[in-house]
Amino acid sequence: MADDALTLVHLYPDLMNVYGDRGNIIALQRRCAWRGIELEVVPVSLGDRLPTTACDLIFFGGGQDREQEVVSPDFVSSKGAAVRELVEDGTVVLAVCGGYQLLGHTYTTVDGEELAGAGVFDVRSPPGPRRHIGNIVIQAELDGEPRTLVGFENHSGRTYLGSGCQPLGRVLTGSGNNGEDGTEGAVYRNAYGCYMHGSLLPKNPHLADHLIGRALRRRYGSAATLPPLDDTLEERAHQAVVRRAGKLGAVRSGAW
Ligand code: GLN
Repeated sequence: MADDALTLVHLYPDLMNVYGDRGNIIALQRRCAWRGIELEVVPVSLGDRLPTTACDLIFFGGGQDREQEVVSPDFVSSKGAAVRELVEDGTVVLAVCGGYQLLGHTYTTVDGEELAGAGVFDVRSPPGPRRHIGNIVIQAELDGEPRTLVGFENHSGRTYLGSGCQPLGRVLTGSGNNGEDGTEGAVYRNAYGCYMHGSLLPKNPHLADHLIGRALRRRYGSAATLPPLDDTLEERAHQAVVRRAGKLGAVRSGAW
């Protein structure tokens, strides 16, 4: 594995980066490095072209409506089609909040402006009457294993899934996609969207490894089993949010 290398495209790092979203990149880079895998990070912003041949992972963080208004036209006109093609080809994507919304069909700001998205996820995000703010814990399934994911959400948009994608998980505590149907996030092929800031990946090392594993499998064709790391601290951070969230709100149960 020592010679393995992956390339990650970081979309609009200068505009879409709130609540420590960049920590996701650091977590991916460190977890790769500890296993001898080089992860090159390529920032791609306004006016830049997406490097499509060497692109294994894409990260798209969150942002305020103001930034999303700037990003949406550039993203849809010069990058959306390339991202859709890459996703169809199995490229791994993680998108958080504002980035997740712009990977759907549309996101409507609190002021009522409808912004176009790339349509990677079959989702639409109209505005809601209140912001959804706080810790969130969900039950997800990663490679057939039930796993909890924890994060921090802060969004006015409510996201509704169409039939073309699956939810990432079921909300145990928090609002998730829309505060109504108990779903959180979306999954289409190897693309994952969610409302979980945090940073997400340092507190959910199992999700970080899931994404790295998928990217390695696509690039090198091997059923890569990543050597385990000492995740004592990450696990403590994860459990601390689970415990805190459990105290703050009733844990939901039942089917979606
Ligand atoms: N501006 C979007 C909303 O309020 C996204 C916010 C975010 O990325 N945290 O819904």
